[in-house]
Amino acid sequence: MQHIVLARRPEGAPTTDDFRLETSPLPTPAEGEVLVKLSHFSLDPYMRGRMDDAKSYAEPVPLGGTMTAGGVGEVVASNHPGFEPGDHAFGMFGWASHGCLPGKELQKLDPTMGPTTAALGVLGMPGFTGWAGLMTYGDPKPGETLVVAAATGPVGSIVGQLAKAKGLRVIGIAGGADKCQMALDTFGFDACLDHRAYDDASALRAALADACPDGIDIYFENVAGKVLEAVLPLMNTGGRIPLCGMVAWYNAGALGANQGGAMDQLPKLWRTILVKRLHVHGFIITDLWGKYGEFMKEVAPMVAAGQIRFVEDVAQGLENAPTAFIRMLEGGNKGKQIVAL
Ligand code: NDP
Repeated sequence: MQHIVLARRPEGAPTTDDFRLETSPLPTPAEGEVLVKLSHFSLDPYMRGRMDDAKSYAEPVPLGGTMTAGGVGEVVASNHPGFEPGDHAFGMFGWASHGCLPGKELQKLDPTMGPTTAALGVLGMPGFTGWAGLMTYGDPKPGETLVVAAATGPVGSIVGQLAKAKGLRVIGIAGGADKCQMALDTFGFDACLDHRAYDDASALRAALADACPDGIDIYFENVAGKVLEAVLPLMNTGGRIPLCGMVAWYNAGALGANQGGAMDQLPKLWRTILVKRLHVHGFIITDLWGKYGEFMKEVAPMVAAGQIRFVEDVAQGLENAPTAFIRMLEGGNKGKQIVAL
């Protein structure tokens, strides 16, 4: 089997030299284990954090260890009573051609219910993150205004579509005219701004203010950086900020380092949260896993009915995963980034 390991820890933005393709013998499943030949695996922003040797909510990938990822594929050998060859399954197999895991850690998939890759995006961890963050910490109400960046990605696109379905005005922020068009045409947002078209936060803020005449009630935070700086002064009193991610700062190292002057804004930030009585709630999706059944019950039928749409960006071949990953962190992906094997 082949897999991609972490060759060295990146300084700043990752490069292809931080990864290495390795070959190892195909494992034989031990008692209770299942061997799966992967068809696809997922590339997600959180993997950038796993490349650093920094204290976080999850252990870093060790040097020489296989990069973490959720994947889907077909069972080729099983030593677990719940799986047999030919079954389809999802598991945390890593950036690899095959994976061998205990059957109890796998989720069986029914390929007749739709593409199994949905388990990596709209009906998997990212889709669940959007739903859980919005419903648990966003308190969406009809007539309110929601802003979400990385608007065409798997998290942002479900946040916006769910908010639209609940009667909110939804403004996306995305990188590039094509993505903004996708937010309008494919995902049904009310408006979408191209953050690359504005030199600084105040220019972006002026455009956002025009797009949000009643202010912003919910800012679903995916990116931070310039977008956060633009959004904060426009938040309405009592506004909610589900703090999901901050991809604009993932390459900047540990918080506390000078992030392009961002830390100079700290007193202003704190004061805004105070005087506007903002509800800022950081969350890590693994803590909310108990709600996954509820999510599937609500969202899977909406996906099947075409009420929630999803777009996949498929890179071909394991060897191209590092390039696709780097591209995704820079905003080169259009929709959920996956790798096909
Ligand atoms: P995406 O597929 O949307 O990919 C990341 C996107 O971030 C890029 O496509 C790009 O979109 C945007 N981006 C990158 N750099 C910048 C920048 N400097 N300024 C503005 N936008 C930028 O990612 P996901 O939908 O998978 O994830 C979205 C967020 O959710 C991430 O922050 C991720 O870490 C977080 N997350 C958090 C979880 C949790 O448990 N808290 C779980 C899952 C995801 P564009 O070109 O449109 O700007």
